[in-house]
Amino acid sequence: EIRLDRVAKAFGTTRALQDVSLVAAPGRFVVLLGPSGCGKSTLLRVLAGLEAPAAGQVFLNGRDAVALPPAARGIAMVFQSYALFPHLSVAENIVFGLRARGTPKAERAARLARTAEMMGLSGLLDRRPAQLSGGQQQRVALARAVVAQAPICLMDEPLSNLDAKLRAEMRREIRALQQRLGITMVYVTHDQAEAMSMADQVVLMRDGRIEQDATPAELYARPATAFAASFIGTPP
Ligand code: ATP
Ligand code: MG
Repeated sequence: EIRLDRVAKAFGTTRALQDVSLVAAPGRFVVLLGPSGCGKSTLLRVLAGLEAPAAGQVFLNGRDAVALPPAARGIAMVFQSYALFPHLSVAENIVFGLRARGTPKAERAARLARTAEMMGLSGLLDRRPAQLSGGQQQRVALARAVVAQAPICLMDEPLSNLDAKLRAEMRREIRALQQRLGITMVYVTHDQAEAMSMADQVVLMRDGRIEQDATPAELYARPATAFAASFIGTPP
């Protein structure tokens, strides 16, 4: 379970997060939705331990996480830019984190093979990122998160660089993978159609605050504010 209690974060005079409280139950697919600059990435970075909140508390499975370093949080993250290492092969990119954590070589090889198979990357393991299409690079970034076998996964606009067809396909794949592995997901997007089609729970943000936290059906049926109504629109 992820729980944020009245979290605040500022950069100079920019209030990136203000009084943000939310709960994500285990195994749920939670989408953070909102316009550019509303604080979505900052919220993910606070969860991952890459930014310290200025106020408020973060709990992971009931444990106060504020003092926990990123590597001890049981969190895998896919960044807005894929952040692949250009000089490493696909295989090396995928197992980089396992290596850093000292996972034994045989275990690394077994997990790499399984994950590559699952993500359709088995034939591409010796290539460099520059030799891959955007969609394939995206899969490598996803594989790197999956291979960690973390109970919580954070994804920051992972599909923004893909064309519409591939994006639709990857949405289904990510959702299926999350369900199969029982991962708790916090997924960031500013695309309301993507949010509504993937989420168990949508957290709509505006100017660093939570505007509404509801299921997609509730958001359509009862938008809490004019902003929510206009941002969500009408069901397809
Ligand atoms: P986008 O959809 O464009 O990615 P976002 O919702 O992820 O936007 P954030 O990146 O969380 O937005 O930024 C929230 C606010 O905090 C913005 O006003 C942004 O300019 C500011 N901000 C974020 N990171 C920093 C930083 N390191 N230094 C200064 N300001 C920052
Ligand atoms: Mg962002």
